[in-house]
Amino acid sequence: MRSYLVKTPRFVQKFFHHYAWRIKTDEKEIYLTFDDGPVPEFTPWVLETLKPYDAKATFFCVGENIQKHPHIYEQIKEGGHSIGNHTFNHLQGWKTPTKKYVKNILQAESYLEDAHSKDGKKLFRPPHGRIRPVQAKILRKKGYKIIMWDVLSGDFDQRLDKKICLDHTIKHINNGSIVVFHDSIKSFKNLDYVLPKVLEHFSERGYRFKSL
Ligand SMILES: [Zn+2]
Repeated sequence: MRSYLVKTPRFVQKFFHHYAWRIKTDEKEIYLTFDDGPVPEFTPWVLETLKPYDAKATFFCVGENIQKHPHIYEQIKEGGHSIGNHTFNHLQGWKTPTKKYVKNILQAESYLEDAHSKDGKKLFRPPHGRIRPVQAKILRKKGYKIIMWDVLSGDFDQRLDKKICLDHTIKHINNGSIVVFHDSIKSFKNLDYVLPKVLEHFSERGYRFKSL
């Protein structure tokens, strides 16, 4: 059994309405996001895979990975994608004291100074989707928009068959969906198969891929 839901239920989205779960639109637009990079093994592959479709995406970067791989981070920027904060050490909000959590995010921010969304907001996605309301409130005051998701591909799930991963991702995406993938080692087995097919499937149906 999976321990996560592929599609975030609407009541959850409504209850936590301060967080962005999807973009309200009637247009055929999809918002792909990639968490946990930048890493030299996988991020450049993601960038190259997006290119032929003129697909823009949003990368939620871990500060220590930007510190280790600044040239890969530059490649994301050069590709015209949006970049968001994903803490410096991939901290889990529920398990981390608020002061330490916010400090860690600001540490990542020092590597992300010129990274904003299209509307000029700073973007933050909590690792594991876990953040306490008080932590979110502080971040909002600091100008952050908290981005969750509408569709969790499950690419990180090693036991998940890649074909099933693809099928349920395609099934749950609709206009304005924010979709989670990972440019990371554990996800690559699925991502390598799923990402090109998602791009192909929705492009053929007239969708465009946009950054947040
Ligand atoms: Zn993450």
